[in-house]
Amino acid sequence: EAVLELRGAIVSIVLRQADELAKINIELERSNTELDAFAYIASHDLKEPLRGIHNYSNFLIEDYAQILNEEGVSKLQTLVRLTQRMEDLINSLLHFSRLGRVELAISATDLNIVVQQVLDLLSARIEETSAKIDIPRALPIINCDRVQVTEVFSNLISNAIKYSDRPQKWVEIGYLDAETESPIVFYVRDNGIGIKERYLDSIFRIFKRLHGQNQYGGGTGAGLTIVKKIVERHGGKIWVESTYGRGSTFYFTLQA
Ligand code: ADP
Repeated sequence: EAVLELRGAIVSIVLRQADELAKINIELERSNTELDAFAYIASHDLKEPLRGIHNYSNFLIEDYAQILNEEGVSKLQTLVRLTQRMEDLINSLLHFSRLGRVELAISATDLNIVVQQVLDLLSARIEETSAKIDIPRALPIINCDRVQVTEVFSNLISNAIKYSDRPQKWVEIGYLDAETESPIVFYVRDNGIGIKERYLDSIFRIFKRLHGQNQYGGGTGAGLTIVKKIVERHGGKIWVESTYGRGSTFYFTLQA
């Protein structure tokens, strides 16, 4: 009888926990859409006044340059640069929140074509840095949102080229052999600067950029957050393995 009572108590605790979990899930989902909505409204409304500041600063530089001294012109130029940067950040935020609201447009997508298009778009940078791009075997055709998955490859491949000091840059794009039917684990590997272990999770946070990496060119720090959101909306996962100073491998899963 005591055992039965205990079992009853455990069952009721488990049920209560499940109830709580379901509630938390609903809350989380709601707060996600609220965050998307907030990001959209906030950034949309910020854009207009910012555009105004940008235009007025440009106007001042162009039309009043002769009555300003060098210092004045230089300060205005900084203002233009800063507003441009803020516009970039807002555009990233708008893009990020839009991803949470649009439906996925799923279709059979040949990833060889996707990656080729990305490489074509990046061809100037690839030539300039003489990066070697390796695709050890043909990529599969999968059902996904073509535009969004193109963005995943584009972000990861351009980061792989960007965050590297090596005279001989190297990027490999491929997928692991599936042990089960699906999902497929894709990867983008580089021999670049690598990421310290303590940052391996936080680089996926919005606007997170690692200190002292300005020499690798501009960026808003939204790329990986967007990549993560796209992968997760497809039901996949993303993670990174890296050896600081040696290189990084970004993995993500997608259903076949
Ligand atoms: P962005 O490139 O605009 O700064 P991302 O969100 O794409 O933003 O990346 C966030 C940060 O993660 C980068 O600023 C960089 O510090 C680090 N990072 C991303 N990809 C790599 C990589 N392949 N190797 C080393 N560091 C990387």
